[in-house]
Amino acid sequence: KLYNEVQDLKGNIRVYCRIRPFLPGQCQKKTTIEYIGENGELVVANPLKQGKDNHRLFKFNKVFGLAATQEEVFLDTQPLIRSVLDGYNVCIFAYGQTGSGKTYTMSGPNLSTEDWGVNYRALNDLFHISQSRKNSVAYEVCVQMVEIYNELVRDLLSGGSSQKRLGIWNTTQPNGLAVPDASIHPVKSTEDILELMNIGLMNRAVGSTALNERSSRSHSVLTVHVRGIDLESDTVLRGCLHLVDLAGSERVDRSEATGDRLREAQHINKSLSALGDVIFSLAQRSPHVPYRNSKLTQVLQSSLGGQAKTLMFVQLNPNVESYSETISTLKFAERVS
Ligand code: ADP
Ligand code: MG
Repeated sequence: KLYNEVQDLKGNIRVYCRIRPFLPGQCQKKTTIEYIGENGELVVANPLKQGKDNHRLFKFNKVFGLAATQEEVFLDTQPLIRSVLDGYNVCIFAYGQTGSGKTYTMSGPNLSTEDWGVNYRALNDLFHISQSRKNSVAYEVCVQMVEIYNELVRDLLSGGSSQKRLGIWNTTQPNGLAVPDASIHPVKSTEDILELMNIGLMNRAVGSTALNERSSRSHSVLTVHVRGIDLESDTVLRGCLHLVDLAGSERVDRSEATGDRLREAQHINKSLSALGDVIFSLAQRSPHVPYRNSKLTQVLQSSLGGQAKTLMFVQLNPNVESYSETISTLKFAERVS
């Protein structure tokens, strides 16, 4: 409801800011967050600097403060999820530096607690609503999960060692969507989803010593395909939902990074700015949208632009040490909103 009121103004793009809390054990609680308004205002300041001109005001559709729960965040996300069942394409992604809570928002701290993130809650919701409509619409739900690392797309759900790298796009889907040529898995229950998400997480760790390290340098994309057959009219509805945990947006010091690390950083940089460029041109209603500039924007193309609805979570670390990354994250958000 709320979403529809602003969609015309925003070109179907919503931006929520979420600030993660201080973590247990972090004794120093100097923060850059000066003020959070009811209507999406956020003021940040660098408390280590004097003077008034280091305060900056940003405006979002909504700001979730340090105490916001997963449930509260999902309440404002739910209308988008529902529209997937009505045949809309939706893209939800989390942007921010490593450690700012992207994975927490999208997946939750881990799959065994009840602090589930948007991913799990979204799929759960899809099942509940499709159940409640079962006398009028027969829904089928399938998922894909890929990782984009150094401009290579990898299937996270293909079994065993057949971790093939995907470069080919299957554009022969009935609705003409470009989807990665990755395995597609039907899901019938929330248990099915948890199982697949676990497989995806395990596969994400393959080939890297530290899971956190790798996951902060690759984008993970969970794609949900929904197909509904209207039992009365026999018409078919299709919707697709992309749930994206982006690579960390932090800038890498060029003088320090070399070799693989530098190459990774350049790929991340390139794909995040390609994403920014796409959303910017959509927000500007530009006739040319540069989807082709990265694998990320190619994978997400069907759910960016057109009738699609996009939600970006701008994730912030409240700590004063993160000040310059916070400002750079906010500038990215400012450009696209
Ligand atoms: P990112 O994916 O952006 O690198 P994480 O989601 O891994 O960041 O978050 C970093 C740490 O902060 C993790 O330990 C995570 O559990 C914790 N965290 C993030 N957001 C929250 C939150 N809203 N509430 C409680 N803990 C959080
Ligand atoms: Mg993460």
